[in-house]
Amino acid sequence: MSVESKNLPASAAQVAQRLENVRARVQAALRDAGRGADEIRILAVSKRQPVAAIEAAFQAGQSSFGENYVQEARAKIAALASLPIDWHFIGRLQANKSREVAERFQWVHTLDRIRIARRLNDQRPYGAPPLNVCIQVNQAGEPGKGGVGPDEVEEFARQIGGFPRLRLRGLMTIPPTAADPARFFTELRILRDRLKVLGTPMDTLSMGMSADLEQAVTAGSTIVRIGTAIFGPRPPAGDRK
Ligand SMILES: *Cc1c(COP(=O)(O)O)cnc(C)c1O
Repeated sequence: MSVESKNLPASAAQVAQRLENVRARVQAALRDAGRGADEIRILAVSKRQPVAAIEAAFQAGQSSFGENYVQEARAKIAALASLPIDWHFIGRLQANKSREVAERFQWVHTLDRIRIARRLNDQRPYGAPPLNVCIQVNQAGEPGKGGVGPDEVEEFARQIGGFPRLRLRGLMTIPPTAADPARFFTELRILRDRLKVLGTPMDTLSMGMSADLEQAVTAGSTIVRIGTAIFGPRPPAGDRK
């Protein structure tokens, strides 16, 4: 029985090998799309993965990590404080957890409420650079899913522009499962391009995960968020620390 099938954490060598595979996939997709080799950032999504797995990826040259749960991230960020990692928050953000995110993270990908934006702005420490934010877009209007509707993005972006401690970088999406992701990725890029023309410059499209990174790169993604393809299967949620 392989280590993976028992859901044990991946070894450092496995993480390094998988990271190499992901880089190769991204580079091949960039080439196929006629895009430059440095036009994308791989975000390693380390939710529910142990600190040792993050360290292994860091040793293999990975420096951007994404976390979904504030409490879980707090312990990891503290344990890895000596490493020059940039931390990206990619989960649902509750107002009562915003201070922690404003203080410890460099990016938030899932902004979808002005009230949270205001809190992050007010709570971002002075001396720290502005917090990089992406607006999450709920493209299919799925109930229970975070994100603003495509028609609301322009007004939402305008309001974000009024917060000096936030730096609006772009748009983020998680396409509906079982749908053709390519269509949604393309629509998000078109939305970003339209906002650019209307005077809201954004350099980031956070889209693409383990299963669909190629389609995302083809459509113009600048950050792919990759979990299982780097770390292997996630341990069950019950074991989360
Ligand atoms: C978990 C997660 C990912 C990574 O998903 P994989 O399929 O494991 O690559 C990416 N984005 C978000 C928002 C996630 O919650």
